[in-house]
Amino acid sequence: MKYWGEYKTRLAETILGQQEAIQNLSYYRNQLFYFIVLYTLAFSPLAIVPGIIASYLTGFVNLLILNILTFVVLLLLAFFSPIKLRTRKLIFISTLFIIAWTLLYNLQLEGPGLIYLFSVTIVSCLILSGKIAYRLIFVNSVLLTILGLNIEFQWLKLTITEGQSTTTWFGIVVNLIFLSIIIVACFEVIFRKLEKIIVQQRRLNAIVNQDNQKILDAQNVLMEKNEELNQFAHTIAHDLKEPLRSMQAFAHLTISKYRTALPEKGQEFLTYIQTSSERMAALLDSLLDYAQIGKGKEKSVFSVRKLVEELEKDLSQLIRENDATIKYNGLPQIMGYEIEFKLLLQNLLANAIKFKKNNEDIEVKIKANEKDDSWEFLVTDNGIGIEERHQEKIFTIFHRLHRDKFPGTGLGLANCKKIVEIHGGKIWVESLANQGSTFYFTISKDLENMSKNG
Ligand code: ADP
Repeated sequence: MKYWGEYKTRLAETILGQQEAIQNLSYYRNQLFYFIVLYTLAFSPLAIVPGIIASYLTGFVNLLILNILTFVVLLLLAFFSPIKLRTRKLIFISTLFIIAWTLLYNLQLEGPGLIYLFSVTIVSCLILSGKIAYRLIFVNSVLLTILGLNIEFQWLKLTITEGQSTTTWFGIVVNLIFLSIIIVACFEVIFRKLEKIIVQQRRLNAIVNQDNQKILDAQNVLMEKNEELNQFAHTIAHDLKEPLRSMQAFAHLTISKYRTALPEKGQEFLTYIQTSSERMAALLDSLLDYAQIGKGKEKSVFSVRKLVEELEKDLSQLIRENDATIKYNGLPQIMGYEIEFKLLLQNLLANAIKFKKNNEDIEVKIKANEKDDSWEFLVTDNGIGIEERHQEKIFTIFHRLHRDKFPGTGLGLANCKKIVEIHGGKIWVESLANQGSTFYFTISKDLENMSKNG
């Protein structure tokens, strides 16, 4: 097996040289020639050795010499590098042609000469071109016709025509020529169509490659813009915190020092300022957290079941206060960014508990489905549900429904989306108002390539 492999590589290097891309039909023609030489040479002992013995025993010295020469030519074609591929093919065809005529000459129409002659034409059409095949047919026709006339007019005494009748000769020869022309013509039609298909495929590939490049470029620009936006959000949130802190401090100071001096309305306004600035501080903190997601992320393999168990502990107060049950089964080990993934589940669980219906026990189910190239997770609750028209918007930053009824910053699901995206996945919700919601998200199994691509 090892020798066969080495033999194949060696031959491919000599015959095909540098492997070319599939540009047109000549690629397949070259491959075919390579395989013909590969197998003919490998199995030549089976044909040539008996040929040598037979020609020795029957006294056909010229056939004996021809057999040996053929073997030498095959060796040359397979291993002698400085011959061009086209010349190599022409030598091969010429050798076959000489074999055919020698066989025909010595063994007449009864021997394998005619079959060889037919094969040379077909092989030349397959590995070179229809043009060469037609030329061969022409040469054969001329030679065979002259020989036929020689039978009729007895110009020369030749072994090939000895004892032959003109009618049989022309009968067989015309058949051979006719068959050769038909087959070469059919091959030509098929080849032309194949060539067209290959060229079209090449063009399509070029277009697809171009489009892929455009998509990649756009993706890179988008990533850069996203990064800029992140940076911007971070800077704004960070810078706004400073004046906000002064505002909070002065509101606090004013309340504690001048509370009694202020009329009731003034006190009320100041309390508004204080609660609003607290809320703004909370929003800015969430925004800073949001901008931070994905920075310094570390990939590892972790158990999602263990993370959920940890979350049950972290959220135990919320779970207890709301009498919530969390059910899960068969959660897998995955490769991902553990801290971010935990935050994702935490947001979804906290929401599932927060957006509950008034008079119903809360039940949250977590499930995982394995797909070909990703994991799909489902977090299902029996809460208030989300109307279809809001289902896409809730993943955008600061988008909140039920502002008066439930507390929040509107960043939870935006965080989830960002986390899912750094895992090469998607997040969406399926829900009906008042009938609970199922949040779906996927995590790519191919994070290795994801992080390479950015
Ligand atoms: P927040 O929870 O701070 O309001 P989120 O980004 O987490 O912000 O959620 C956005 C909105 O999506 C919420 O205001 C809520 O209306 C809706 N939502 C999120 N999760 C659920 C849920 N499990 N059931 C019903 N509505 C939900």
